[in-house]
Amino acid sequence: MIIDKFKLNGKVALVTGGARGLGRGIAQGLAEAGADIAVASRTVEEGKKAAEEMTALGRKALAVQADVSKLSEVYRLIDEVVNHFGRLDVLVNAAGFNIRKHFLDFTEEDYESLMAVQLRAVFFASQRAAKVMKEQGGGKIINIGSLTCVEFAGPNIALYGTAKSGVLGLTRGMAKDLAPYNINVNAIGPGWFKTKMTEKVFQDEANVQRMLSRLPLGRFGVPEDLAGAAVFLASSASDYITGQIIFVDGGWLIN
Ligand code: NAP
Repeated sequence: MIIDKFKLNGKVALVTGGARGLGRGIAQGLAEAGADIAVASRTVEEGKKAAEEMTALGRKALAVQADVSKLSEVYRLIDEVVNHFGRLDVLVNAAGFNIRKHFLDFTEEDYESLMAVQLRAVFFASQRAAKVMKEQGGGKIINIGSLTCVEFAGPNIALYGTAKSGVLGLTRGMAKDLAPYNINVNAIGPGWFKTKMTEKVFQDEANVQRMLSRLPLGRFGVPEDLAGAAVFLASSASDYITGQIIFVDGGWLIN
């Protein structure tokens, strides 16, 4: 039955950035679909609270404190999850932040710090996880992209767009190389969601109204809106899909 293909019972999923915001909504969705969950963040209290809520759903859950800007912590994170659960079936790369500046003002330090989390961590977490998935006979990797992966550029986000465009290229490259190992690699492109990362954008009421008027579905996204796409891409219902990005954007990109 097709509905059974969406079930994630017996699967283990790691969501970086799963303690709050979009990653939290995705982790919740994966847990509701049956997966055991690990969430990773630097703030351990938030992670533990998220893990407790997954446990209340009847899942096994683990909160790992890790700063994915450091490669040693990326590797420790993957290894800790595999040691704890004995396997890793789904990796969602959702940890992220933004530095908003005019292009002329970005420093090398800005570049290094943003790329470390938004691109390098995605690359090497996926590589480490894919080695485990290859041994297991398959897996699913889901990267969190953005409208800036394709045809959107706002003011002051050139650095963010550089990283997110890289995430889409990486998604496609990994999809190709990992297909022989039954590992699907796809991305989700969220539109506008009010989270800690975007709270400043949402403080400008004129800007909020401008954005709303461009949204065909007439509202901003909430983290739960990403759960459906995430469960689909994490499940065997999407076994013949790889190298794609699904936009969950209220229709923004059709304008
Ligand atoms: P958020 O609410 O600020 O959540 C970001 C998460 O990433 C937090 O759990 C944070 O935990 C974690 N994180 C940040 N830096 C980290 C690091 N160095 N090591 C480990 N974890 C780290 O932001 P969000 O909006 O949900 O963003 C999640 C992802 O969605 C990001 O990749 C973002 O670019 C993307 N996105 C967001 C939107 C939007 O409208 N909000 C749209 C498109 C794409 P700690 O701070 O505790 O480490």
